[in-house]
Amino acid sequence: MNNVSSPSSEFNSILFRHHLHQHPELSRREENTAKLIATQLQAFGLTPSTGVGGNGVICTIDSHQPGETTLLRADFDALPITEKNSFPYCSQHDGVMHACGHDGHTASLMVVAHELSINPPTTGKVVLLFQPAEETGTGAASMLRDSWLTAQHIDNVFAYHNLPGYPLHTVIVKPDSFACASTGITIELEGKTSHAARPENGTSPITAMLDIIQYLQRMPDKYSEAFSLVTIVHASLGEEAFGTSPGLATIMATLRSDNSAVLNAMKKDLLDTISSISSEEGLINHVKWQESFNAVVNSPKHCEIVRRQALQVGLTVQELEEPMRWSEDVSEFLIKWPGALFCIGSGTEHPELHNPDYDFPDALIDSASSLFLSIINHLHRA
Ligand SMILES: [Zn+2]
Ligand SMILES: [Zn+2]
Repeated sequence: MNNVSSPSSEFNSILFRHHLHQHPELSRREENTAKLIATQLQAFGLTPSTGVGGNGVICTIDSHQPGETTLLRADFDALPITEKNSFPYCSQHDGVMHACGHDGHTASLMVVAHELSINPPTTGKVVLLFQPAEETGTGAASMLRDSWLTAQHIDNVFAYHNLPGYPLHTVIVKPDSFACASTGITIELEGKTSHAARPENGTSPITAMLDIIQYLQRMPDKYSEAFSLVTIVHASLGEEAFGTSPGLATIMATLRSDNSAVLNAMKKDLLDTISSISSEEGLINHVKWQESFNAVVNSPKHCEIVRRQALQVGLTVQELEEPMRWSEDVSEFLIKWPGALFCIGSGTEHPELHNPDYDFPDALIDSASSLFLSIINHLHRA
């Protein structure tokens, strides 16, 4: 094993979490959070690599013995939400907040780092991966452009997300599809304005806009082989001017499915429909895909490891019937290597993720880190 300098024996994970909570940073601007993570890992006598795919931090704990490689991932970006809590460790950054609990995910993985710095694996190696920019769906993909990381042969990937609406500490698992693929789309339909008294002299995008909205709303019926959903999130037409017939329309929608192939088919169909409707109406269209996520697909074997080790540490396990409707870019790692994303309940009455009064339940740091450590003990102790 590494002859690590003696780790600080005391690590207060709750204070660490509160510190992160107080200093949230938006996706791709998490420089200080990354620095804090690296400094804490160094204090444990570990040697993190920083600047991986932006602000990513990776820390490997190697037994230097044959065995498997396990990657544990936590995300650490915050959201553009104004916090409506009043406890002493509230966000000090205006309009930015840890409203998804990534502060807690990071604190949980830090407990694992602390534990493994004292009691390292005896077979194989453990890669602790701290990921930025999860909320925008770009962080995992950016980290996977790192040549060291892509060259690794990883046998097991595990990550968790806390989940309000489920009993505190209950571990939620599901083999195969766990969370949806999704993408945002912005559609601009460009025609020509004219005097409102002479609409026939211009090209109003109104008919095309209504047709496309209707098409979007009916789309899920066409794809009943998988769960699919389209949500129109914004629409606008022309200007607020009684004298002008509109020349521009914008529609924004989010498409999702629990099957990445179905989502791709939906995207292709939608593009074809937009272009045929626009050309019929004499409009130019501009389409932008944004915040795209692949579906999270769990390996049944890894799901079973989570279930078994959860029971071993005394946690209740619940199996999901349907995949989660939200998306998580841990999918990028799970496309490359086998593993499982699971959830741990944050309490049935807990404020929802992304609510302004949400706060990660500190009690979960213990259950999440115990479960991770139990998985590591199972896979990495001779
Ligand atoms: Zn979130
Ligand atoms: Zn999240």
